[in-house]
Amino acid sequence: MLFFLLSCFSFILLSKFSFFKTIPIWNLEMASFSFQFFFNHLLTTSMISLSFCHLNPTKNGHVTASKAQALDSKKRKEDDVCLLDLPDLPLECILENLSPAGLASMSGVCRSLRVMCTQDHLWVRHLNQKWGKFLMGDAMFKEWQTNIDTKKKQTLLDSSNGKGYFGNVTTGFWWKKNVKLDNTSICCLPVDSIMSWYLSLERGEFSFPAQVYNREVINGNIGFLLSCYDAKVSYDSHTDSFMARYSSQGRPTIEENIKWERLRSPAVDVSPYDLHVSDCLTDLKPGDHFEIQWRKSKEFPYGWWYGVVGHLESCDGNKLYCQCHHSDSVILEFRQYGLGSRWREVTIDRRDHREVGNEVDGFYAGIRKLYDEKEIMTWKGFSPAQRLE
Ligand SMILES: [Zn+2]
Repeated sequence: MLFFLLSCFSFILLSKFSFFKTIPIWNLEMASFSFQFFFNHLLTTSMISLSFCHLNPTKNGHVTASKAQALDSKKRKEDDVCLLDLPDLPLECILENLSPAGLASMSGVCRSLRVMCTQDHLWVRHLNQKWGKFLMGDAMFKEWQTNIDTKKKQTLLDSSNGKGYFGNVTTGFWWKKNVKLDNTSICCLPVDSIMSWYLSLERGEFSFPAQVYNREVINGNIGFLLSCYDAKVSYDSHTDSFMARYSSQGRPTIEENIKWERLRSPAVDVSPYDLHVSDCLTDLKPGDHFEIQWRKSKEFPYGWWYGVVGHLESCDGNKLYCQCHHSDSVILEFRQYGLGSRWREVTIDRRDHREVGNEVDGFYAGIRKLYDEKEIMTWKGFSPAQRLE
C-alpha cells in the first residue's frame, strides 16, 4: 500500500508538472521557494526513481512504435493530472510543509489554491514560529485588533466611495518592495486573516508595541545602558532587523537596525506613562534581581531599569547575620554604575512605595522582581564591560 501511494504521488509529480504549467512566470522565477525545494527534494529521493521505472522504455534503449504510442498516450493522461486532484490528506500535508513564501506564491496560482493557502490554520504555525516572541503578551495582538478595526473602517469608507470592500494585500511578490504588481498578482485577503497579519509584519507595514533593551546605546548613548524602553517597532526583512519609534515628550526618536535579541514583548500590561503596582515588595531580599520603572521627569514615559537588591549600610553582607530582608528599607543597586556614582543606588520603603525621586535624580516607580532565570541572563548579557561613572 505504501509503495502504491509513493508511486502514485511521485508519478503525479513527474507528469511533466502540468501543475507548474499553470503557475505564472513570476512564480517560477522564485528559485528560493521552499515549495520548489520540497519538490526538488522529492525528485532526488528514491521514490521518484520508481516512477522513472514506469517511464523507462526498454533496457537496451530501443522503443517500438506501438510502445511509443502507448507511452505518449500515457503521458497525455499524466498531463491531465494536477495537484488539486490529490486527495485532501496529502494535499493538506504538502501545504502544511510549505514555507510562508511558498504558501503566498501558491495562493496566487488559482482560485482553489488561494482559498486553501490563505486558511488561518496554515498561517498560525508560521506566525507563532517567527513572531511568537512578541505574542507572549497581549500588546501585539491588541494592536493588530486596532489595526483591523481601522482597516475595516477604511474599506467601508472606500466602499462608499466605490473603491471596493476588501483591503488589498499583495502576494507573490510580498517580500519584494517596489515591484509593480499587475492585477493577477494582487489578491484580496480578509483584513482579519492570519495571513494578512503575517504579511503585514513581514513587509513592515504593521508597527506594534515592544520594548527595546539598551536603547540607542549602539549609537553612543550609554545613558540607557541596562534599560528597556517602550517603542513602536516595525520589521525590515532586507536587514532582518527592526526600526523603533520611541515616544518622548513632544519629540519622537527613531532608532534603526535593532536586532531581534534587543527586543521583547512588554513584560507587564501597563502604559509607559502609568505606574506599575509593585506586588513583590515584601519578597525583596539582597541578591534578588529586579526591574524598576524610572523616568527623568513627570512628563516623560517610564523605562524599565535592571538592578540587584543590595545590603543595608549597617550590614556587612554576611548571609549568616544579614537581617536586611526584615528592614522596611530596601537598597536597590544599579551595578552598571561605579560605587561613587549618584546613579549607583536608591533606597525605597517596602511598606509604602509608589514613586520616589525628584527632577534632578529622576523618579523611581513600580518594581518587578525577576524570577525567571532566562530574563536575568538576558539582562546580564547587556551588562557593560566597564562600569559607568
Ligand atoms: Zn544584609
